[in-house]
Amino acid sequence: MTDQNDFEIVASVFTQFLESNKHRKTPERYTILKEIYKQKDHFDIDTLFAYMNSKNYRVSKATLYNTIELLLESGLVRRHQFGQNQAYFEKSYFDKQHDHLIIEDTGEVIEFCDPRVQLIKKTIEDVFKVSIHKHSLVFYGTKKEPDDKKS
Ligand SMILES: [Zn+2]
Repeated sequence: MTDQNDFEIVASVFTQFLESNKHRKTPERYTILKEIYKQKDHFDIDTLFAYMNSKNYRVSKATLYNTIELLLESGLVRRHQFGQNQAYFEKSYFDKQHDHLIIEDTGEVIEFCDPRVQLIKKTIEDVFKVSIHKHSLVFYGTKKEPDDKKS
């Protein structure tokens, strides 16, 4: 998501959020937002911190944590737990709704989108007369051995 128009859209969403919550609009916060929207994958704070350092941005880890919190609150970033202690993040503004499959032996994260999840959500909303605004679904598995004994 390196497209300039896309960045302008998320930046204006962020500006609205910062202004209406009386947070300061520091250039560091926008730099972090921009770099996060360049990430194609899920990332953790340490990886992002190393990445920012490698690009010579002078951003402290405290600022990073603080900005991630604001981005979570504003809905521009999503947090995932994926079973380990470490939290993973991903940009969420333009992304289609998707869920995750973790391959535990390799740590690989696969994204999938199954429309039946929306159906379940709709059913639960109808049955319990609620409005659901988020969900979390993660499958954990291991790769199956290739079945080479039967050849
Ligand atoms: Zn994802």
